[in-house]
Amino acid sequence: MALITVSGYPSSGKTRRAGQLKTAFEARLQDPTYVGPKLKVVVLSDDELNISRDAYKGAFVFGFDLWPETDVLADSRSEKPARGALFTAMQRQMGTDTILIVDALNYIKGFRYQMYCAARELKLRVCTVYAVATTDLCKEWNKSRLDGHAYTEETLDNLLLRYEEPSSMVRWDSPLFTIPWIDAEIPADDIWKAITEGNVKPPNAGT
Ligand code: ADP
Ligand code: MG
Repeated sequence: MALITVSGYPSSGKTRRAGQLKTAFEARLQDPTYVGPKLKVVVLSDDELNISRDAYKGAFVFGFDLWPETDVLADSRSEKPARGALFTAMQRQMGTDTILIVDALNYIKGFRYQMYCAARELKLRVCTVYAVATTDLCKEWNKSRLDGHAYTEETLDNLLLRYEEPSSMVRWDSPLFTIPWIDAEIPADDIWKAITEGNVKPPNAGT
């Protein structure tokens, strides 16, 4: 029914936001006053797919010695299969009775575009939730993680460099909800509206 893509720096609070969203939506769906289709809320995350944090380590591609500025940071070889596994799992979970929340880095524009296309093909509604925290906070939170999913310093730095910020100007990232770390709550009602209403008909539709 809908695909919600969560994106953000490593250890920026994506899983926390995905959890808040799931809780809010389930409360709404279970409320006796709820009228609407029966829906389930599914969170799909990197953590559950057992994709190692090291898959995102990245790699340096060296240019010519004379022109060190041609060195670029690139995907490591393990990143494509990691994205492939996430994409396959996502396609398996998408459906008309499901609100699917994809809680992963989703740091590559082209990958978010690919997910958007897959969702639209099934006529699902889409939206993007951008969990924002400063790089310093991400590093601090990464160090103090208790869930065993901390990134190494190297992987974290690398991902911070390669992160491609979502933009409300492109259709595959919109509608975009940007949620800064200082916000205790998420705008769950607005996000609900974005995926359930607002399928605005063009003015002359059906006449
Ligand atoms: P991600 O899924 O982006 O890697 P998590 O949601 O797992 O991030 O959060 C990483 C760590 O940072 C966790 O230990 C979490 O408790 C902490 N954290 C996340 N958001 C905040 C916040 N707004 N304030 C304080 N700590 C936070
Ligand atoms: Mg997470």
